[in-house]
Amino acid sequence: MSEVYDRQITLFGEDKQKELQDSLVLVLGCGALGNLVANNLARAGVNLRLVDRDVVEESNLHRTLFRKADVGRPKAEALKEIIEEGSEVRIEALVKDFNRFTWKEMMKDVDIVADCLDSMLPRYLLNEVSVKKGVPFVHGSAIRAEGRVKFFDSENECFRCLYPRTPEPGKLETCSQSGVLNSATSLVSSVQSNMVIKHLTGFGNVNKDLLVFDMKKGEFRTVEVDKNEGCEVCSHNSFDIIEEGGDIIVEETCEGYNVVPKSADVDLERIAENYSGEYKGLFTTFTLSGKEIILFENGRMQVKAKDRKEARSIYSKVVGL
Ligand SMILES: [Zn+2]
Repeated sequence: MSEVYDRQITLFGEDKQKELQDSLVLVLGCGALGNLVANNLARAGVNLRLVDRDVVEESNLHRTLFRKADVGRPKAEALKEIIEEGSEVRIEALVKDFNRFTWKEMMKDVDIVADCLDSMLPRYLLNEVSVKKGVPFVHGSAIRAEGRVKFFDSENECFRCLYPRTPEPGKLETCSQSGVLNSATSLVSSVQSNMVIKHLTGFGNVNKDLLVFDMKKGEFRTVEVDKNEGCEVCSHNSFDIIEEGGDIIVEETCEGYNVVPKSADVDLERIAENYSGEYKGLFTTFTLSGKEIILFENGRMQVKAKDRKEARSIYSKVVGL
């Protein structure tokens, strides 16, 4: 076995090291948490599938491993390249949305999921997938100086038991509005990767309480979360998001609306020409009826519309679906 893992083997032995090297972890989201979770896991010998639909922005640099030259590149691909330089594992990068059309291919052969997402809807979907398929996940989130981590084992209490209601559109606090400390994101991601490694190897106990860190007050708490016997997902096995019909998803994000088709064939260069926009390789930007629009090659559109209806109608005008 390579010397790379000497210190780990000294700590927990070759068998547990082999467990890590035979594993595959899905890292959903390659922002602050995803960067450091993926880095820790890859260097520990865990194979990874990295998923993120977005590109690197300058404001990401303060809490990630991205370099200035990565600005404008897809996060998943840039992260794969950075981590591969220092590790010996298999890494796949998927520049895609995690949604009801894509979850199956993303979950294939996965042992556990690291939830490094930055919005609630895909988390509720992940929760349904976890309960339905029996795959655990480690939820992490950080905002301002606060962080939260919770291990969901797919059999007991679930994410819906902890957060029963979907936040109303626009009500959820985001890092772009409130800011975040890089020490909070690195603490959360360390605990997340630690839980993944403990789950995969059986080295130490996985604490299944909700862990809450307040880096401003210097407080660290654990909160017991009970299973809700009326929970639609884990008590009644009702999977509304997975089973919702229709070929188009319209979801609110901090940048407006995100419209995602099941499949679409878009000619970004032609659309740039038609709407006097700018074709940038992976996407085209343009303005229609005063709304700023970004259209990606897989047919996903980000649009600053006033509501879902307007977002859907602009999508249909431009893409024809
Ligand atoms: Zn539940």
